[in-house]
Amino acid sequence: MRVPDAIDPAVGYRVWLVEEDRLFSFAHDYIMWQPYMPFEAVCSKDHEVPDKNCSCGLYAAATFNRLFEMGYTKSYGMFAAPEGRITVAGQVKLWGAIIPASTGWRAQFAYPQKLLVPYSRWKIARKVAAEYGVPFQLYNLERKH
Ligand SMILES: [Zn+2]
Repeated sequence: MRVPDAIDPAVGYRVWLVEEDRLFSFAHDYIMWQPYMPFEAVCSKDHEVPDKNCSCGLYAAATFNRLFEMGYTKSYGMFAAPEGRITVAGQVKLWGAIIPASTGWRAQFAYPQKLLVPYSRWKIARKVAAEYGVPFQLYNLERKH
């Protein structure tokens, strides 16, 4: 995978659904992130993505803690996930067109940079990180946010 050198990639934070060691977007749609391929945001409207008058683009929070303001948390878990599913959080590289969103950014391209996973899920973290060729960091689920 190549990230254009001319543009400094920005950093954001996201949550994905994990299935068979692959990452899936699930907030608005359900799309697999291909290992070693940039994730490109698309829009059904005919314009550049993201567009400031549209809601399109890849959403990423500006900080890890802001993920909690993006509707990813529910009373029953760290991050909301459909019944019986597993989610992981992570840092993403953002590039291409990037515009500010309420909790962070909307971007044209993204790729995971580092997975952030509770200690209890280290096995999943190791497999997914290997699949995407990225490092992972374990954290204590009990920590205060
Ligand atoms: Zn759009």
